Amino acid sequence: MGERIDFREGRWVVPDCPTIPFIEGDGTGPDIWRAARRVFDAALAKVSGGKRRVEWLEVLAGEKAFRQAGSWLPEATLETIRQYRVAIKGPLTTPVGGGIRSLNVALRQILDLYACVRPVRYFDGVPSPMREPQKLNVVIFRENIEDVYSGIEYQARSSEANAIIEFLAERFGAKIRPGSAIGIKPISEFGTQRLVAKAIQHAIHARLPSVTLVHKGNIMKFTEGGFREWGYAVARERFGGDTLPESEVGAGAGGTARPAGANGRVVIKDRITDAMFAQLVLRPEEYSVIAAPNLNGDLLSDAAAAQVGGLGLAPGGNVGDGYAVYEATHGTAPKYAGRDKVNPSSLILSGAMMFEELGWNDVADAITRGIAGAIKSRRVTYDLARLMPEATEVSTSAFAGAIIEHV
Ligand code: NAP
Repeated sequence: MGERIDFREGRWVVPDCPTIPFIEGDGTGPDIWRAARRVFDAALAKVSGGKRRVEWLEVLAGEKAFRQAGSWLPEATLETIRQYRVAIKGPLTTPVGGGIRSLNVALRQILDLYACVRPVRYFDGVPSPMREPQKLNVVIFRENIEDVYSGIEYQARSSEANAIIEFLAERFGAKIRPGSAIGIKPISEFGTQRLVAKAIQHAIHARLPSVTLVHKGNIMKFTEGGFREWGYAVARERFGGDTLPESEVGAGAGGTARPAGANGRVVIKDRITDAMFAQLVLRPEEYSVIAAPNLNGDLLSDAAAAQVGGLGLAPGGNVGDGYAVYEATHGTAPKYAGRDKVNPSSLILSGAMMFEELGWNDVADAITRGIAGAIKSRRVTYDLARLMPEATEVSTSAFAGAIIEHV
């Protein structure tokens, strides 16, 4: 029988046989979940000799939930995830029209999973548009709740949009063209600081050299400028002994990956969003952890993933305080549903992130080793096979088999 994972004094308490709820996902979700579960169980058995295992508990969401329970996101699913704290999910169809805007956004907001964590690294042999893709190795912490994605948005000419335009004109003399659609961009000190604190904790824990705050504070002075200011403040006030702002590292040294002047402390830097996109292409080795507001983080995550060979391999986790849901970052790829064809790596690497978060680094390393080995052996799913010279295309399940061989 599995036991509950607990969270006490800011730390996970993980039994040897935790129960972890999973959402299989829609479309190709069942194909990749089947493959992922085999890899997780094989890695666990291999590294712990049977001492540690996971009891997987299915919970419903998406189309399957709608068919079986009449709801896209049943209350029982949320309750079970709340109870067991850590879950993993395949991709879900976004219901078109009415009800929930996006199941993923709903899950994040309901469980207050305020950090979207996206590690981006290169696997040897994956085709990439870059000459030296291995130089990029970053973990992006994207704020998950606030910003223009908070869902406060009104259609052009709606009574709400018209009322806001009128109010701003009358009260503050702010001119907005009549008939505009309106979206609200809230960024708070609280939301920023808990996200930046998580990024800094990760850098300290993983002994990474820097955290870079990415913002557009030169234009949006109070929202994105606030993100920068509050980010530096939380570094100074909560992690003063472990961090150092780039401005204090010594002339010219802040740009280097591990500046001598930092004396082992995490260097806190900030970059304007557009410059950051250029930096990731031109000098990726200077960045190890990135903390960004929602929109910047969303764009950066996918752009960075493209540099190392695309979204098919990009894992993700949505993490709060004492709750976490890990997920494949791609969608349901419905045209391949049930064809045992697509690449399961995104979900499998999300599982590796989950085990790492729970302190089972040996399991995470084994899974990552398995993926790296399978790719190197050039027996890969169609998406990689069509780009890799001399590769053999294999099915989702055969690819999982190749991963297990290399675990
Ligand atoms: P998508 O499902 O990600 O698929 C777009 C294309 O990406 C596929 O046709 C395929 O490319 C490639 N692809 C995606 N997953 C792959 C995998 N595992 N292995 C190999 N190739 C893969 O995006 P979409 O078609 O825009 O969205 C479909 C549904 O998914 C929508 O309902 C959307 O709302 C939802 N969605 C869910 C999530 C989530 O749950 N996190 C995220 C995004 C979208 P080729 O055609 O070139 O083979």
